[in-house]
Amino acid sequence: MHFLDQAKIYLRSGAGGPGAVSFRREKYVEYGGPDGGNGGKGGDIVFVAVQGLNTLIDFRYSQHFKAARGTHGMGRDRTGAGADDLVVEVPVGTQILSEDKEEVLADFTEVGQRIVLLEGGMGGRGNASYKTSTNRAPRQHQPGIPGEEMWVWLRLKLLADVGLLGLPNAGKSTFINQVTNAQAKVGAYAFTTLIPKLGVVRHKGREFVLADIPGLIEGAADGAGIGDRFLGHIERCRVLVHLIDIAGDDPAEAMRVVQGELAAYGEGLADKPQVIALNKVDLADPELVAGFAEELRAAGAAEVFGVSGATGEGVEPLLDTVLGYLPNRTATETKGSEVEDEAEDAADWSPLD
Ligand code: GDP
Ligand code: MG
Repeated sequence: MHFLDQAKIYLRSGAGGPGAVSFRREKYVEYGGPDGGNGGKGGDIVFVAVQGLNTLIDFRYSQHFKAARGTHGMGRDRTGAGADDLVVEVPVGTQILSEDKEEVLADFTEVGQRIVLLEGGMGGRGNASYKTSTNRAPRQHQPGIPGEEMWVWLRLKLLADVGLLGLPNAGKSTFINQVTNAQAKVGAYAFTTLIPKLGVVRHKGREFVLADIPGLIEGAADGAGIGDRFLGHIERCRVLVHLIDIAGDDPAEAMRVVQGELAAYGEGLADKPQVIALNKVDLADPELVAGFAEELRAAGAAEVFGVSGATGEGVEPLLDTVLGYLPNRTATETKGSEVEDEAEDAADWSPLD
């Protein structure tokens, strides 16, 4: 299986500019001293976490990041200009790993977080700086310090704001299709029903990423079934939508099974806010829905929504509630269409371990 949540990139900070060798030449000044300035500093490689990115897909197209070198020093004691830093923007949730993936070099958990991963080289000394009382006309100078280079892996746990949970057949896929904008479906590139499917939901002028976590079955947290590797992807969700099939045998038991999985997985999953919804209400009459809702409340659910992923019934108030758990950010541009265009080759681009 393939995920687009990691990318290998090459980084190189800028070399320092060389120092200059120069002597003052002025009319009527017989022995002008050395006046070669120092070289400028090379650019740093800086990473910054930004809002509005949800994937590492852009790193498929640019894999090499090289900061510029410093300018050389010049005569008349002019220091060379320092090069601009090269700033690489990554989504919140990105980790930078060493090339062998043994070491986490950086972990971006909030917007605006910034680190200098590679420093640009210092500029070399110009000959003016070598002047001493015994050496009035030094020709020494230094080249700039070379930049540093390295390969690193970027890794992003799929960054969904909202996770969609439920036993198989609870109606997760149907629900996500109902509420996400097909045009903006991030999941269109590599995700099939066997791997988490991401969709962008636009509701009331806001947007969030919803991840369908398929195949959560009993024992998933211990590695049984395919659910386990996906639970990791929802660790960073702010709220979970938990769908329970009204046509299933025992909705309260279904809810307990999923809660049990979350608790067994740990990592705070069980403590995340959950919005509980009885799904497929189109199949049942209102009294039955009310009866099941009552059972779920008795089993610990705070509020129970009745929804139908198939018809869209009840979905609006549920999404309103979900928005209440999310930071109030306005809709950002999504890269959905771009992502979709690249659907095919994306699939075999970046194998996850
Ligand atoms: P998942 O395994 O949780 O992804 O569930 P699916 O979305 O694949 O749905 C499982 C089955 O339930 C499919 O046959 C769907 O057609 C059906 N289904 C899903 N949502 C609804 C719903 O709201 N109403 C009805 N009547 N059937 C639904
Ligand atoms: Mg499904």
